[in-house]
Amino acid sequence: MSLRIDLDRLHKDLEDLGQLGRDPRGGVSRPSFSRADLEARDWLKGRIREAGLELREDGAGNIFGRLPGAGRVVMAGSHLDTVVNGGMFDGAVGVLAALECLRRVKEEGLAPVKTMEVASFTDEEGNLVGDFLGSRAFAGLIDPDALRAGQTSFGMPLKDILAGTAFTPETILGASRERPDLEAYLELHIEQGPVLDTEDVPVGIVEAIAGKCWRLCSFTGRAGHAGTTPFELRRDAFLGLADFAPKATRLAAAEYEGSMVTIGKITAHPGAFSIIPGQVDFSLDVRSVSADGLAGLERALLTLAEDIAATRGLGFVSKLIDKAEPVRIPARIQDLLKEEAKKLGYETLSLPSGAGHDAQMIASVCEAGMIFIPSPDGISHSPEESVRWEDLDKGANLLLAAWLRLAG
Ligand SMILES: [Zn+2]
Repeated sequence: MSLRIDLDRLHKDLEDLGQLGRDPRGGVSRPSFSRADLEARDWLKGRIREAGLELREDGAGNIFGRLPGAGRVVMAGSHLDTVVNGGMFDGAVGVLAALECLRRVKEEGLAPVKTMEVASFTDEEGNLVGDFLGSRAFAGLIDPDALRAGQTSFGMPLKDILAGTAFTPETILGASRERPDLEAYLELHIEQGPVLDTEDVPVGIVEAIAGKCWRLCSFTGRAGHAGTTPFELRRDAFLGLADFAPKATRLAAAEYEGSMVTIGKITAHPGAFSIIPGQVDFSLDVRSVSADGLAGLERALLTLAEDIAATRGLGFVSKLIDKAEPVRIPARIQDLLKEEAKKLGYETLSLPSGAGHDAQMIASVCEAGMIFIPSPDGISHSPEESVRWEDLDKGANLLLAAWLRLAG
């Protein structure tokens, strides 16, 4: 029988980590470099040392535990930071399962040919300055100007949040120079959606990770009195958005398979009962598993908005806020995961990831693959986020088998 993880030990690690950053309002709040996150970092470093692995931390605060071998590094990991009022499994599962795998390899005295390393990446959730800060820095994909100017979602500049830590924007920018020569990267993660749970399959093999494009948009018109301005003389910015939203959704659904569009944040100005909205600001979240699909849908949505604005006597402006390209998981990695799952007797389902992950960044420097386990009821980024332990056991054992095979 092949090597298996110790589920009880992994379970206990997840419970222990889940105590750090407990939020009285519910769930876990552990944004990167918060007091809770600093505690979690120390805790993880202690676990890595106890396991007898070589501990390393780079300039972006990414934490690594290494089992040295010869040749290139085969890495597995995820992140320990959470959204505010998040759950205790998003990210934590991937880091702690990888740690458990290396403990088992070491306990059994196995000597894989290649170096194996567990990784915990900083601020995957983008609480500070955009998603994937740590893995983006690790891969060398950070825009230096955006980072130095970075205002965080907590209203404080990044450098203030980093004060008192060993990190600065400059050390973050230098993190990619500390990156070892990578052969491959694997990440176990909760699905964060309902597909595996609905299909009742314990393990997902990710085929592609959706790219995304975030824009801040505005329709501009003219504010006016709600009682005295006749309909034909109005330039109502809200009606521009009200026209755009269903057409945008139909466009994505009908013509761009594997794509999503969401308007999640809306502000009307000046925002009063008695005033026709002179301006409406809204967020536009566009996602697709195909690079052509993402670029095409983005262009089509902007054209649609401009057409609607022209018809209604409005203006339309938009600004790009964030962009991540979609990633196709290489066939070699998908096939290897499917073969190892079959040997273990696990049923699997191939599916795309609609959410972004650290693997998306690391795919730019080596072959990267992802294993999903079901999110019961599809819930994540919530105190109600959960896993079934038997699914976690399967996901972690698949990680172990695939990782050992990659490490030779
Ligand atoms: Zn995550």
